[in-house]
Formats: sequence, structure tokens, C-alpha cells
Amino acid sequence: MSVRGAEIRERSLETLGRRSFDLLVIGGGIVGARVALEASRAGLRVALVDAGDFGGATSSASGKLVHGGLRYLRTRRFRLVRAALRERSLLATRIAPHLVRPLPVLLYTEEAAWSRYLTAAGLLPYRALGCLRRPRLAAGAFRALPAGTRCGLVQEAVTDDGRLTLATVKAAVRAGTVAANHVRVTALSKHRGKVSGAVLEGREGSFELHCRAVVNATGPWLDYLRLLEDPRRQPAVRLSKGVHLVLPLEGEWRAAMALTLRDGRHVYAVPWHGTVLVGTTDTSYEGDPGSVVPTPTEEAYLLEAASRFLPNDLVRRDRVLCSFAGLRVLRPGHEPTFDASREHLLSVGPAGMVSVAGGKLTTHRPIALDALRALPSEVRPRRLHPCLDPLPGASPPDERALRSTLDAATARHLAELYGGEAGDLLGYAASFPEALDRVHPAGPDLWAQIHHAADEEWAVTAEDVTRRRTTLAVRGLDAESVREGIAAVLAEGR
Ligand SMILES: Cc1cc2nc3c(=O)[nH]c(=O)nc-3n(C[C@H](O)[C@H](O)[C@H](O)COP(=O)(O)OP(=O)(O)OC[C@H]3O[C@@H](n4cnc5c(N)ncnc54)[C@H](O)[C@@H]3O)c2cc1C
Repeated sequence: MSVRGAEIRERSLETLGRRSFDLLVIGGGIVGARVALEASRAGLRVALVDAGDFGGATSSASGKLVHGGLRYLRTRRFRLVRAALRERSLLATRIAPHLVRPLPVLLYTEEAAWSRYLTAAGLLPYRALGCLRRPRLAAGAFRALPAGTRCGLVQEAVTDDGRLTLATVKAAVRAGTVAANHVRVTALSKHRGKVSGAVLEGREGSFELHCRAVVNATGPWLDYLRLLEDPRRQPAVRLSKGVHLVLPLEGEWRAAMALTLRDGRHVYAVPWHGTVLVGTTDTSYEGDPGSVVPTPTEEAYLLEAASRFLPNDLVRRDRVLCSFAGLRVLRPGHEPTFDASREHLLSVGPAGMVSVAGGKLTTHRPIALDALRALPSEVRPRRLHPCLDPLPGASPPDERALRSTLDAATARHLAELYGGEAGDLLGYAASFPEALDRVHPAGPDLWAQIHHAADEEWAVTAEDVTRRRTTLAVRGLDAESVREGIAAVLAEGR
């Protein structure tokens, strides 16, 4: 942490322990961050804490697609698809156009049952809200597909999920939320049977926070918190593990692709920060959510599935830049996890704690509003108008300032990550001579981003920076020496 970052953290922790809050939001993934933002905007005094990093769990391990959810077409849930498409459009045009960008998706299927959804009639909801566009793909990007493969094209969007979460936390803090990451809730306190606070433990020690209501937005940890509220509670969720691999991008892709194989498996490839993201698996998971990592078998499975449509010299174990795993939160049930509903889960416990999880990153705004509507009446905001304000960085970047200082590729990189706030990074050159140098010669991330992450984005560990605030990890550039250099910058304020 920098001197400024350390001061901000110290002040936040001190305020969390001293002040009494209307609402404590536990979990700073995309859902918790949005709950905090909407609640602060509605006038509540809000605290937001995360045991790890903001966006450090599921909300940086998604498939990065902001999409309508074609799988719902199969079960004719057109209303859900329409709602998700509406969200996609709002995020891409108004709320976070710098972080949610239109991307065509080519759909291929070898499976007869799916093929009709690739017809004009099946894609009607998409036609209604999204425009269909002919993508331009690099010649030879894909292998010839097996005979009988049908294809369709839809317009979706791609995001940087980790940075979208950070931008939402930033907006929440600007609206009045007091936020701290790397602080875990280890116990809940009650007054007259109702939840009235929590014990928090972080690197700096433990303390108690007082509040009138709690939203449990801990994603895969939902049941752990429910047990803190009531040790007799039965599990409300089951988990499904999804793994992604990152491969180098060759040529320029202007579309993602999603393939349904004859055996029913689904696999997709998404161009992302100069790489190709290949996903995903969908298998039941019963271990500790904090220990979820890709296994060699899962990586081999994805490479084999991807080899059906990507060139063989790309889809090789030795070309994998990085891999990661996340956990979907699903309703309990006996059906295979792939067939389980992807709708979010919401419940109110005996002590009044609102627990919310699951759903999609795409629909995190309506999910957050649902959670706030379930708050105890004495805390619930009277009127909840969904906040349509643009997130920090949503205004267009000052291209001239960026281009006059940086090469075109680096300027574009900063604009993609920081949008209208990209220009702020140039200011670090005045204090740090190396600020505009690359952290690693093979990637566009600059040292200014590391200083900015420490000062303005709550970065505490080197991993916070490499995985969620820059593209170093996804590009496979987070070598030991790079992490040590970043840790040295973060240590300046301690
Ligand atoms: C493999 C996969 C692919 C996906 N792809 C897509 C996609 O392409 N598009 C899409 O729209 N959606 C996708 N999703 C869904 C999307 O990622 C999730 O819906 C969303 O990220 C859930 O966010 P969340 O805030 O509920 O949970 P999380 O992001 O998991 O946040 C929960 C937070 O709670 C914190 N926490 C836990 N315990 C405590 C505690 N005791 N004290 C304090 N904090 C605590 C954790 O540290 C964590 O940061 C995908 C999900 C998976 C798993």
C-alpha cells in the first residue's frame, strides 16, 4: 500500500469500528458492491467489507460475457432473457461503456435439439433488443468445423469483471459507503434476536461493527454466514465449479464463439485483453470455496474441447498463459449442475439477515435491488430507484492527452481499463520517474497503474494488482520478480 492507500485504509477501519451503520454488506463481489452503492444512494449509512479482495472470488472468475443467456431460450424463459438483455444494453451504453463493450458471438452447434434456437425465430428476443452484426474474424482463426455444424450470430458484450466490481465499489464509496477489503466477518452479534453487528478480523486485528441490518452477499460462502446467524440452518445452496484457460491471441478476433458439441458439452472462446479465454467446466463442488483451483484434468478437458474448433498449435498445454476457477451458487437439487436454474437465491434468516447469491454478473443490478427490498422495514429505503448513474470512468477518455504521451497500444490499453479516468495515471510521471515504463516488456501495463492501484483502488497484496487491477496475470506476466517489484511499491506506506 502507498502512503495515501495506507491512510485511506486506516481511516476506513477506524470508522467501521467507531460509527454505527444502517447496513453492513458482507462480501464485496459485484452483488455486494452494487447493494452498497444502491443503499448509499438511497440514504443509508453503509459499511462494505470483504474477507479477501473486492471482486476476488467469483466476480473475477466469470466467463466475462454480459449476455442474455441463450440457455434460457431452451427452456422458453424469454422474460429472463429480455431482462438480461436490457441490463446488457444499459451497462454497455450508459452505466459502464468503458468496461462493457459490444461483442458479437458466433454460435455453433452439432446438437440437433439446439439448432432450432439458432434460427431467426429462436433468436427473436435477441433481435428485439440486440443488433445482429456480421463479425470480421482473422482468416484461419478457427479450424474447419465438423460437417453438420449449424451456426448463428448474436450481439452480446464482454467485460472486465474484476474492474467492473472495483468501479462499483468506487461509486459506492463516492456515494458514502465505508469500505474495506481483507477484513473477514467471523461472528454476528444480535440484540433481541435480531442481527445488530459483526466481529471483523483483518491484518490489523479484530474489532466489532454495529449496524441495524445485514446483507450477506458472500456468494459461495453464503451458507457459512447463514450458520453464523443460526447454527441449526440447513444448507440453502450447492456449488458448481467452472474453470477457464487463457491462451495467446493470434491475429485479431472481433467475435467470441460458443460451441455446443454433439455430446452436449458447451465450450466458448472469448477474446479478452489480447488473449483468448476458453471456458468452461460445470461440475459439482463440495470443498472449501477458498481453495477452488483448476486441476490438470479440468485443464486437459478444456484443451480437448477447444481443439474441436481452435487451431491445434494454439491449443496446447505449453501455451496456456493462466487458468482460474470460480464457483456458481445454485439451488439444492438432484439434476446435473448444468441443468440447474441460474436464477439468484434470496432468503431472510430468523435474525433478519438477508442472504443473496447466484444469478449472473449481467443481472447484478436487479439482484442487488431485490436484496434491499428484503431488508427489515425499519431500515428498508422507502423508495428504491435503480441508480442509472454512470460508474467512475464511464466518460470518454482524453485520447489526445493519452496519445501525446504514450504509444497507441498503451493508450488504448489504459482507456480500456480506466475509461475517462485513464488520464489520471499520467500524473504519476511527475512523482515517479519510472511511472510510464512497462512493468513487463511483453505487456502494456505500466508502473503508474501499480501506484494508482495502491492509492485509489484498495490494493493490499501483489495478487490484488496482478489479477484484478492490471492484465499482468491474465497475460502470464506475473513472474516472481514482477510480484516482488509490485510488493515493494505496496509496502511504501506501511
Ligand atoms: C465459471 C463461471 C462463469 C461465469 N460466467 C458468467 C458470465 O459469462 N456472465 C455472467 O453474467 N455471469 C457469469 N457468471 C456468474 C457471475 O460470475 C456471478 O453471478 C457473480 O460474480 C456473483 O457475484 P457475487 O458478488 O454474488 O459473489 P462473489 O464475487 O463470489 O463475492 C462474494 C464475496 O464475499 C466475500 N466473503 C466471503 N466470506 C466472507 C466473510 N466471512 N466476510 C467478508 N467477506 C466474505 C468473498 O471474499 C467474495 O469476494 C459465472 C460464474 C462462474 C462461476
